[in-house]
Parts: sequence; structure tokens; C-alpha cells
Amino acid sequence: MKKHIAVLPGDGIGEEVMTEALKVLACIAGRFEHQFVTTHGYVGGAAYERFGTHLPEETLSLCRSADAILFGSVGGLVSEQHLDKWRNCEANSILTLRKTFNFGANFRPVKIYPDLKEMSPLKAEIIDRGVDLLIIRELLGDSYFGEHKTFYQDERRIATDVIMYTEDQVAAVAHVAFKAAGGRRQKVTSVDKANVLDSSKLWRAVVHEVGRNYPEIKLEDMLVDNCAMQLIKDPSQFDVIVTTNMFGDILSDAAAVLPGSLGLLSSASINAEGFGLYEPPGGSAQDIAGTGKANPIAQILSTAQMLRFSFALEQEARAIEQSVETTLKAGYRTHDIYNPKQSAATKLVDCQQMSQQILAHLEAVQIAEPVA
Ligand code: NAD
Repeated sequence: MKKHIAVLPGDGIGEEVMTEALKVLACIAGRFEHQFVTTHGYVGGAAYERFGTHLPEETLSLCRSADAILFGSVGGLVSEQHLDKWRNCEANSILTLRKTFNFGANFRPVKIYPDLKEMSPLKAEIIDRGVDLLIIRELLGDSYFGEHKTFYQDERRIATDVIMYTEDQVAAVAHVAFKAAGGRRQKVTSVDKANVLDSSKLWRAVVHEVGRNYPEIKLEDMLVDNCAMQLIKDPSQFDVIVTTNMFGDILSDAAAVLPGSLGLLSSASINAEGFGLYEPPGGSAQDIAGTGKANPIAQILSTAQMLRFSFALEQEARAIEQSVETTLKAGYRTHDIYNPKQSAATKLVDCQQMSQQILAHLEAVQIAEPVA
């Protein structure tokens, strides 16, 4: 298979973790006989310095001509957000890409690795039940795109934000969720606030209509307030969670703390044609940029998601995930997941050494023979 990939490392740790992810991609290309043509583009502060804009036309046209976008992260130090280079950097880069390519669904897998359970804020007995879930967040509707208004009435300020969903928007993301559950543990939890909101009543009705096309998938509804509690109390009950833009924004960030570090998570934003942007959900981590402390796993797992969701290369994606798990099992830890109390059983490594270990396991992964 030959694919063109737009590579946008961005700012902070973006460049260093992307370098490691591209080594993993090159290894996959070699082992599975694919050709991945990678072309770098500027985004975020790095683009601002060169072009005076966070998302130059050159970068957009590179993305338009690619089969997928591999994105690092953008943004400056929190204390420097007032500078022109960083002001609105994230919105100008990521939200513009989302709108330009109509990314309608965001995938956030959340998994607690048994070998890292001491990093999770959850109790061991909860983790031991197994935590491996996928949150799918609708990205093009809800109050983010409805009318926002602040006005005066009787000399008092009033603000309104309109939540709006069309049945087509809900149906599109529901299909994505049922298909994703088909390749997992066959269960979808649809999260809404149907006891209060009309938009949620429509959401629930449409998800059930779509669900009739997938009789093998178990569908359950859950109110968002309950889901927030269940994610902490009993996350093992979930396989695929599908929810609205705002509920997904909040729930996916809550779930992101369960594995114990942002450096372990991946994220994918995908449109109806399967074109996607793959990135770690964390930011540019300027506090550790250039120190070698960045964990490359988030960027490497995002690359695995690109292979799975945009190129349908399931075996290749699994090979990467398996190599990450084996590396963690062998005790290799970057700074963010290192626990000095376990120093006898683990080894502190930097960003590059972590990916070297992952690559060594990837070189040894067994490749299944194609079924005749
Ligand atoms: P952050 O996500 O960059 O970092 C939060 C904490 O997590 C830091 O302590 C950081 O060191 C750690 N961390 C994050 N990724 C890590 C990794 N791969 N390995 C090890 N540790 C990791 O959040 P922040 O510091 O609040 O934001 C920094 C900048 O990133 C800001 O400008 C913010 O606007 C931007 N941001 C960008 C994105 C994006 O590009 N998608 C997302 C969130 C924040």
C-alpha cells in the first residue's frame, strides 16, 4: 500500500515525539511492505514564526493532498499566551483544520495498562476488572456551532448558547460508533441528557433508529451525569461510548486521567470519507520540551490509529500497540510514568530510548500469513 501523510509536528515536544513516531512508521513500512510518503508542514507557533499565521495555506494544501494528517501539538507556555505568536494558536490551528475537513467524530481510546496500574488514580480492584474503552465524540454540532449571544434586558446581562443537532449529524456519528464496536466488544453506550434537553431526546431516538441496523451490537443509554460517575466507579463496564460534542469534550478529558499520564493516550478526528487527523490529546508540554522527558507513546499510538482508521491496516496497528505493551511490561518508563518506589523492577528512559525499545519489539512481532 502507498499512502501520503502530512506530518505537522507543531511546537514544544511535538517535534521530538514525532521524530520517534516516524521511526515506528518506517519500521511498519519495512516489515509489512508498505510505502508511506511523509511530507512535513508548519503549524502553530512554528508556522507563525515563518509565515505570520498559525495555519499557512502551504500547510492546508499539503493536508488536502494527503491521505491522512499526523499532528503533534501546538501552543506556547501558559505564561506567554498573550504574545502574538501564541494568541489563539490552538483555535487557529486545530479548530480550522476540524472545520476545513469536516471532522465529524473524535475517537479517544482509554486503556489502563496492568503494568502501570500504580500510575492510575483508581483503586487496584477497579483496574483489575480491565479498563479498555473508546469515547466517540460528535464534533460538528451542539452549542459549539449554535448561535452565541450576550445581550441586555432590563439593564441586566443575559447570555445564550444554542444547542443544535440535525438527525443526519447524529446518525452519522452513531454509524461510526456501531461500526467501531463491531471490531471491539460489541457494546455501545449512548450518553445524553434526554431527561432535560430536546436535542438529547432527538439524539437518543436517532441512535436507536441507527442501532436497528446493527442487531449484533448491544445498545444502552446513559445520562451524562451518571456516566461521569460510572467512568470513575466502574469504567470496565464500557466498550464504546458515543456522545455529543460538549459531553464528549468533558467526559474524554475526565477519562484521560485514568491511565495516569497524557503521554499514553491517542486521539483521532475523522470525517465521513475516512480522512483523519491523528494526534496526542495532550498539548505541547513546553515545561519538558527539549529535556528528553517527553513520552513518545501518545504520538506512536496516534500513528497506530491512523493505520487502523484511515488505511484499514488493523494488523499493523495491533503490532504497534502490542510492542508498546511489551515495552511497558518489560519495565521501561519515561519520566511521566516512572515511580521511584518501583525502581528495582523498572528502568527510567528518555523519549528516544523508549521508542528504541518499542522498535526492537516491533522488529520481532510475528506477522500473520494472509488467509488464502
Ligand atoms: P499539556 O497537555 O501540554 O501538559 C500538561 C502536563 O502533561 C504537563 O506537565 C506536561 O509535561 C505533561 N505531558 C503532556 N504530554 C506529555 C507527554 N507526551 N509526555 C510526558 N508528559 C506529558 O498542557 P499545558 O501545559 O496546559 O499546555 C501547554 C500548551 O499546549 C498550551 O499552549 C496549550 O494551549 C497547548 N495545548 C495544545 C493542545 C493541542 O495541540 N491539541 C492540547 C492541549 C493544550
